[in-house]
Amino acid sequence: MISKFGEPKYRAKQVIKWLRNGVDGFEDMKNIPILLRQKLEEECFIANVKIAKKLVSKIDGTVKYLYELYDGEYIESVLMKYEHGYTVCVSTQVGCRMGCKFCASGLFGLTRNLSASEILAQITTAAKDNNIRVSNVVMMGMGEPLDNFENTERFLKLVTHEDGLGIGLRHISLSTSGLVSGIKKLSELNLPITLSVSLHAPSDEIRNKTMPINKKWNIEKLLDACREYQKITTRRISFEYALIEGINDSKECADLLAKRLEGIMCHVNLIPANPVKENTFKKPNIDAIRKFAKYLEAKGVNATIRRTLGADINASCGQLRKKEGHL
Ligand code: SAH
Ligand code: SF4
Repeated sequence: MISKFGEPKYRAKQVIKWLRNGVDGFEDMKNIPILLRQKLEEECFIANVKIAKKLVSKIDGTVKYLYELYDGEYIESVLMKYEHGYTVCVSTQVGCRMGCKFCASGLFGLTRNLSASEILAQITTAAKDNNIRVSNVVMMGMGEPLDNFENTERFLKLVTHEDGLGIGLRHISLSTSGLVSGIKKLSELNLPITLSVSLHAPSDEIRNKTMPINKKWNIEKLLDACREYQKITTRRISFEYALIEGINDSKECADLLAKRLEGIMCHVNLIPANPVKENTFKKPNIDAIRKFAKYLEAKGVNATIRRTLGADINASCGQLRKKEGHL
């Protein structure tokens, strides 16, 4: 674009630097000649996100943002502080069409995909708002990243680029509900990101009830794609398992899960299911969750119970957008 205007290459770097620092508009790019700023204003627009609401956890400082997009749609992001630095959880779509029964993001289907810049802007805006450097990114907010593959791929290029945010691929996790076609495409890119697979059930019988995608690609097909992904990337896979009382939290479920994951170098993240008003799912009590983790460990499966951050601000994605009536 910059070369189209007959401008030297270093101007592009200057513009990117402004964008990286979360500039509001081209007029604020002070080291860019006025005429070029005007041309940019006429031909381009900055896909910024605007903070519509911000909730800060009194327990652990986790910040949850409701962002407004240029077309009046709303998405959510979460900023979390860990010992090793700041992590932002980004959304990749407005809504989601996967329809998982336990999830607030998928309740009303997909409105639209986010562009790569809109995914990036969630990070730059949170960084600017808190005057911090973000070191890790998890693509675990609203939406299914592999259902927005092109923009996800472009985002990964921007966020890792030295002129972009310079965040290493090893510091990025991508969570998917199990779009096998997308996992295959991702394998071909052979990136050292962490693939996080939302499994949530050890059998097709249970998974069919909670995750409609399982009817298209069942657990066997999904785990085959994971094995293939691992063969190519040699990366350990992370499996997400949200425990729902009376549905997937029995010892039989743990035993079957361990059996199915045999031969895959992986880690299981146990998450107490977050209740959503529209469904009757409940999370098991903490003892039942600890027991489930023990059953898995006894079978040699590496499992941890995910620490809940921002419990007082409802940090799970999809819930704030709904509560504020922005659907
Ligand atoms: N669409 C992707 C990424 C976004 S969802 C995916 O499904 O993986 C991020 C994670 O939150 C997923 O593991 C998802 O299954 C989980 N999740 C959604 N609703 C939840 C709830 N009510 N309780 C616990 N985890 C939930
Ligand atoms: Fe979409 Fe993920 Fe929610 Fe399922 S869990 S509806 S894939 S955002």
